Amino acid sequence: MTKKAYKKGFNLIETYPVKFAKTIVFVKHNGPAVNYSFSFPDKKVEHIIVNLCPTEPWALPNRAILRNRTHDFLNKLETVREEYFPDSHCHVVVNHQESNLINELNQYKAGTDRIYPSTKEEYLHLHTMEPVYPYDAPVLIVKNILGLDIAFGQNTIEHSILLLDPQDVTGIFEHYIKKSEFNTRLIPISGTGLKDNKILKVKPGTPIKSMLELYVRTDIKYRVFLDGLLNGTEVKDLNQKINWSTKNIVVIEERDYKTPFHYIRTKELHFTTSLMGELRCCVYCNFCDDICPVNLEPALYWHCYDRGEKHKAHLYALEKCIECGLCSFTCPSKLELLQVIRECKLLK
Ligand code: SF4
Ligand code: SF4
Repeated sequence: MTKKAYKKGFNLIETYPVKFAKTIVFVKHNGPAVNYSFSFPDKKVEHIIVNLCPTEPWALPNRAILRNRTHDFLNKLETVREEYFPDSHCHVVVNHQESNLINELNQYKAGTDRIYPSTKEEYLHLHTMEPVYPYDAPVLIVKNILGLDIAFGQNTIEHSILLLDPQDVTGIFEHYIKKSEFNTRLIPISGTGLKDNKILKVKPGTPIKSMLELYVRTDIKYRVFLDGLLNGTEVKDLNQKINWSTKNIVVIEERDYKTPFHYIRTKELHFTTSLMGELRCCVYCNFCDDICPVNLEPALYWHCYDRGEKHKAHLYALEKCIECGLCSFTCPSKLELLQVIRECKLLK
């Protein structure tokens, strides 16, 4: 295993062990769907990273992708690599606790020589990782797996690295290689605003409203977020349609308070939210410093902002912030640190 580059972050999966119903449910949609397409990079790919170690509890679980057929998935990956990225090294990242999956991968690697004939060098590599948020963010996974520093927001392909979504492995294989129909994406939905956490099979182009209508609780007010609660976006209009890059949907109950110390382990996803705010003063607790995975001091950004000196935030390595949102998550004073950071970044 490659030496880990960052020590901080937070194990959200352990704190909020979200459970999804076993059955995957197909969502009917008769409106126009969006055909699958993959933007093949125009640069040479030297490394492919496939992440099978999600670090967010609301992310799609591996079992929905692999469906007890890990060998088939790896065969598809191998075919995609050979067909489109033949000179690349392929890195598969798995949770260090998933011993069955690690064994399956090792057996697959041992089954055939996954080596370049010319150099006898192995091209399929297995990496294990702790499922600590946000170790799978592009900046951190590239650093941890390949030891490379990239800037936040930079496309990894500029460094000849392709981060390949496991669902795209299947998509490229089915659509471009087998030429068969591939028109659905798996989208997990979860949160306190739902009756049950589900994995849905959806045609991109389907409105979010149609996906949630059977599952959302009708006795509460709720808010809907795309791609995670920590740094995703709130859905303002439920007629918005999902697309081929939508990762997940989280629905949380809207309350008139926020839960203090919500990073304490609970049996369910216990995020709360309040449009009414409840901001308090920074109490200099340093929790945000302690959790920041790239060793920044987020409270400094808040103080610059609070004094009306947003531009001064750039004095404290603001550009290194990977916008993971952990500082906002952990702040007991509910300061909207990520929002402030994004505002300060806009000044440059
Ligand atoms: S300062 Fe940036 S990188 Fe650090 S915890 Fe906050 S959002 Fe994450
Ligand atoms: S976590 Fe919040 S209250 Fe504590 S130092 Fe950071 S900004 Fe201040």
